[in-house]
Amino acid sequence: MTVRVRIAPSPTGNLHIGTARTAVFNWLFARHHGGQFILRIEDTDQTRSRPEYTENILEGLTWLGLNWDEGPSYQSKRLDLYRQATQTLLDKGLAYRSYDTEAELEEMRTAQKGRKEAPRYDNRHRNLTPEQQAAFEAEGRQAVIRFIIDDNREIVWNDLVRGKLSWKASDLGGDMVIARASVGGAIGQPLYNLAVVVDDIDMKITHVIRGEDHIANTAKQILLYEALGEAVPEFSHTPLILNEKGAKLSKRDGVTSISDFKKMGFTPEALVNYMTLLGWSAPDSTQEIFTLEEAAKLFSFERVNKAGAKFDWAKLDWLNGQYLHAMPAEKLVDLLIPYWKEAGFEFDQDRDRSWLEQMAAVIGPSLSRLPQAVDMTRMFFTESVEFSAEATDQMKKEGAADVIQGIIEALDNHSELTPVAAQEIIKQVTTEKKVKKGLIMRSLRAALTGDVHGPDLIESWVLLHSSGLDKARLQQALAQAA
Ligand code: GLU
Repeated sequence: MTVRVRIAPSPTGNLHIGTARTAVFNWLFARHHGGQFILRIEDTDQTRSRPEYTENILEGLTWLGLNWDEGPSYQSKRLDLYRQATQTLLDKGLAYRSYDTEAELEEMRTAQKGRKEAPRYDNRHRNLTPEQQAAFEAEGRQAVIRFIIDDNREIVWNDLVRGKLSWKASDLGGDMVIARASVGGAIGQPLYNLAVVVDDIDMKITHVIRGEDHIANTAKQILLYEALGEAVPEFSHTPLILNEKGAKLSKRDGVTSISDFKKMGFTPEALVNYMTLLGWSAPDSTQEIFTLEEAAKLFSFERVNKAGAKFDWAKLDWLNGQYLHAMPAEKLVDLLIPYWKEAGFEFDQDRDRSWLEQMAAVIGPSLSRLPQAVDMTRMFFTESVEFSAEATDQMKKEGAADVIQGIIEALDNHSELTPVAAQEIIKQVTTEKKVKKGLIMRSLRAALTGDVHGPDLIESWVLLHSSGLDKARLQQALAQAA
C-alpha cells in the first residue's frame, strides 16, 4: 500500500500555524513512508473563500518547503462528484430531503432548550410520504439533503495518536445536512463532511491526519464511508496548538499566520523545524534541530503527544537564532538586504556586496530575528551614532576618555586594521594606561557603536575601520565624555 495523505485547507484566511503544523505532520509521514502528499483547497464555502487566501496558503506551504506531489485541486471544481455521491445516498435510501423552514427549526431548538436538552435535529422529515413531500414542494419550500444517522450506533476507530476512540451516534446532532437547500428536486451546494469523504475516497487517501478539533467530524465521516460502501482510512488527530495560557491559539493571540511569522523575521527552516516539535519529539528527545528530511526519517505517530502543544516564543527565537548563526554570510545577506532597504540605509547591493556580506558575517551570530539587523548595523551605515544612556555613562567612567585617547593615538600607526592588529592595540593600551581590559572593551564599544551591547566588538571595529568611520567616532565619543 502506498501511503497517500493530504492537507486540505479552507481558503477563508491566511495559512494558519495550526494548518501549517498539520501540513508538516502529513508531509513527514508521507516522506517517511515514501508516499504521496496531496494538496486540496476546500473552497466550497463561497461566501468566506477568497483567491488571495488560496494564494497565501500556496505561498506559505512553498516557503516552508512543504512540497506537494499532487494538486492543488479545488473542491469548487468538483461539485458534480459530490452531487453524484449525494444522489447515490438518496438512491440507497440513506439520505432524504428535509423541508423544514428556518422558523420551524428555531421553534424545535427553543423547545429543546426549554427541556434542557442538547440541540439536535429530531429527524422529523426522515420518513415523509411522497404525498407529504409533494405538498411541501407545492408550497414552494426548499429542501436540504440529510444523511440518516442511526442513533443506536457507536462509532469506534483506532486513532494513530489517541488510540481507541469512540463516539455515540446519538451525540452527532441528528440526521446531518450534506447538501444545502434547493428547490425542485435539485441537489444544493454540497457540504463539508460529504465533500471531504468523497474527495478522500476519490484521491485514495490512506491516512487522514488533522487537528483534534475534527474528531466529531471523523465520527460522521466514518458513517459516510460505510454508507458509500468504501473502506475507511486510518485517522490521526494531532494535538492543538495552545497559547501561553493553555487555550487554543487563535487570532486573538496576535500572530498566527505563516506570512506574519515571515514578516517577523523567522526563517522557513527554523519555523518548520519548530513546528515539527509542536507535539512531536525525536526518539532522542535531546535532538531538536533538524531539516524536514531528517525529521521525516525519524517521524512516527508513536511519538506524537495527545496533550496540546504550548507555543513557546522563546524556543522559536532560540531555534531561529541557531539557523541564523549557522547561515553562511553569502546567504544571510540576501535575507537582510530587504530590511536594510526598508530602513532607508544607503548602499548599492551589487557594488557593495562584499561589504554587506562582511556586515552579515559580523552580526549573524547575534541575531535571533532578521529585523534586529537594522539596529545592529545602523552604526555601519551612518556617519555618526546616537549614544544610549548607558553608553554615555560608560564614557563618563574614570579612565574611559583616557583609553579612547590611547586608542586614537595607536591607530595612527595602522592604515589597515586586522583583527590581530586590533587585539594588539587593546593590549598595548591596557599596558600603557595600566587599566583592566574590561574598561577598554566597554569604553571602546560605547565609543564606536554608541551602545553597550552588540555584535562582536573586534569584528565591528575592523569593519568600521575599513569604511573609515572609526577614528571620527572615537573623537566624537571623547567630546561626549568631556
Ligand atoms: N478544510 C478543513 C480545515 O481547514 C480540513 C479538514 C480536513 O483535514 O479534513 O480545517
